[in-house]
Amino acid sequence: MIQSYKKNFKTEEQYDTIIIGSGIGGLTTAAFLSKEGQKVLILERHYTGGGFTHVFKRNGYEWDVGIHYIGEVQRPNSAIRRMFDYITDGNLKWADMGRVYDRIIIGDKEYEFVKGVENFKQQLIEYFPKDKDAINQYVDLVFSVVKSMGSYYSSKALSPFLSKLLGGRMRRKYLEYANKTTYEVLKSITKNEDLIKVLTGQYGDYGLPPKQSSFAMHATVARHYFNGGSFPIGGSSQIIETIDPVIEKGGGTILINAEVDQILIKKNKAIGVLMNDGKKIFANNVVSSTGIFNTYEKLIPPPVSQKYQLNQKLEKVRPSVAHACLYLGLKGSPEKLKLPKNNLWVYPEKGDHDTIVENYLSDPKAPFPVVYISFPAAKDPSWSERYPDRSTIDVITLLPFNLVKEWQGTQWMKRGKEYEELKEKMSQRLLETLYHQLPHLKGKIDHYELSTPLTTQNFVNYKKGEIYGIDHTPQRFRQKFLQPRTPIKNFYLTGQDIISAGVGGALFSGVVTASVMLGKNLVKMVYNVKT
Ligand SMILES: Cc1cc2nc3c(=O)[nH]c(=O)nc-3n(C[C@H](O)[C@H](O)[C@H](O)COP(=O)(O)OP(=O)(O)OC[C@H]3O[C@@H](n4cnc5c(N)ncnc54)[C@H](O)[C@@H]3O)c2cc1C
Repeated sequence: MIQSYKKNFKTEEQYDTIIIGSGIGGLTTAAFLSKEGQKVLILERHYTGGGFTHVFKRNGYEWDVGIHYIGEVQRPNSAIRRMFDYITDGNLKWADMGRVYDRIIIGDKEYEFVKGVENFKQQLIEYFPKDKDAINQYVDLVFSVVKSMGSYYSSKALSPFLSKLLGGRMRRKYLEYANKTTYEVLKSITKNEDLIKVLTGQYGDYGLPPKQSSFAMHATVARHYFNGGSFPIGGSSQIIETIDPVIEKGGGTILINAEVDQILIKKNKAIGVLMNDGKKIFANNVVSSTGIFNTYEKLIPPPVSQKYQLNQKLEKVRPSVAHACLYLGLKGSPEKLKLPKNNLWVYPEKGDHDTIVENYLSDPKAPFPVVYISFPAAKDPSWSERYPDRSTIDVITLLPFNLVKEWQGTQWMKRGKEYEELKEKMSQRLLETLYHQLPHLKGKIDHYELSTPLTTQNFVNYKKGEIYGIDHTPQRFRQKFLQPRTPIKNFYLTGQDIISAGVGGALFSGVVTASVMLGKNLVKMVYNVKT
């Protein structure tokens, strides 16, 4: 059972491992360590666990914050599905979203992304018959990138000695793609800007338009969904709910309302953590899954950070985009309201993604560069049992942190009239986009509320409300410090920043971190477990 931390909460004298943050990266690390006999303590500052996989409930509705679809889990033998089965003892179940997972809408044209790579290709060739060769070449390239990915990420688990010996070779192929922007690669295979705009129609999944994003990230996400998308049955809270018993079985505990202030370091060795109420908790190992900025700017004591020039390392990376999400509650079941399972990506008709984003960042009254509409109630087959005659929709767009920065430091729900007015204007603009796509929903909204980058900052502790940790630029992929080992003994990193954003990326970060800590190839081990 997930428990709440209070000052007098009776912690053990010494844990094997303390993990800071209960996102999927931290939970995965914890589950692996627990299954190997370690007593693990997870400390989570939010009043609910799961990081971006948490849900919140209000007015008789429930919304998932950071999961709309996950790829590959519908294939029982895929690596991600095997990992999930292992860390949940097979108790997390998935619902397939069906034939179409994403619908890219550009002006009044629609393009379906269809499940199954051959179907995906055929469908695109129907839209762009003259670009058949480019489409085939694109898909081949995506597969080549993903093929070289395993060796790149495995190099993060190597000891410093082996990394010097073998690391360069293991990283080389992937870096050839990672060093190029998505646009550079796509432009080399087609001159058709409309096709490029469609192929990059999921850029919101990693936050950067094609001229800024690394092609490696683009390819990873595109490939991830080629076999369709799935949603956790029972909603994303089922992730922590099904991992918690595994941690508990190993004698470990997940504590919420438990904010860590600093990592305790003695003679360059992590020995525990200092809580924000002054209490010290000790462990043989400490892991941070709170993101690289939180970890190196806040959790490491400044003298240690200076000694290893950690702040200088951070200059090589930057926070990813921030967002606004309009959470909608509607009376009526998803069937009655004819809500689709697939996501909608709505883009302005004119211009390329990069220019449209640039225009919006310099003038927030410009058209939204992207509006992403997701229908979680329709995706979860258990929804109507849990919330009869109700539905939810999430409508998301980019919202730069600068636009809400002046209210930083004010209290959640009490940020004042001007902030509320800004939110209301934004909400109405997002509703307009929704009604343009699904006019029959007009008059059906029972509840709406908008989150901003301050909400993300408040609940998940990302300093600029960034939703994907650090940006997925070519430069990011060259940073060797983004790996589980740190210069501090017995102190490790996990989470999306050491692999990549996305539940799959963060899940693998947990596997890599636990592999390093245990000195075992856990990927191989999970493949040998009979399912
Ligand atoms: C709006 C949105 C939509 C998304 N949609 C998808 C999707 O459809 N599919 C997909 O695969 N991915 C999606 N993602 C991305 C995915 O959710 C994340 O990449 C992933 O969940 C990150 O996991 P993590 O373990 O790295 O960290 P997080 O989930 O960020 O967890 C870090 C945790 O650390 C805690 N913490 C921070 N500081 C402290 C401290 N001092 N003490 C204690 N605890 C602390 C935080 O509260 C947080 O719980 C989405 C993300 C967002 C925001």
